[in-house]
Amino acid sequence: MTTDISRLRQQAGKLKKRRGELEDHALRAGAMVRGSLLELMRKCGKPGCKCLRGELHGPNYYLSLPKPGKRSRMIPVPRDRVKTIRSLNARYHDFQHAMTEIRRLNEEIESLLLAVREEQLGLGKGKVELPGLPPA
Ligand SMILES: [Zn+2]
Repeated sequence: MTTDISRLRQQAGKLKKRRGELEDHALRAGAMVRGSLLELMRKCGKPGCKCLRGELHGPNYYLSLPKPGKRSRMIPVPRDRVKTIRSLNARYHDFQHAMTEIRRLNEEIESLLLAVREEQLGLGKGKVELPGLPPA
């Protein structure tokens, strides 16, 4: 019993540490840009152009912003802004990954807490004898 509980505490401690690191990381995130940075090559369609032989034009850069129920909005990104947008956008994706991981850790911590509760209810029941007390 006690070893089960200390094992559960140990597991929860590791998860809380990991969650804390992710929270600190996310809390310190700087400026960011949402969406996805796309690099597109294209054919222009002009007769005789090299692109018809496979030498495509580009790359051209776009920031794709999802719109619920609609096609994504595509914002052209000038070449001299690509590096900046790429790093601001990477920060956004890092942040989102941290959020997802934090939610998953919360679920794991919650199930460990429920397991601790079950263990402690079992111990509590062993300490008292009350008529009508349901089994642990
Ligand atoms: Zn062309």
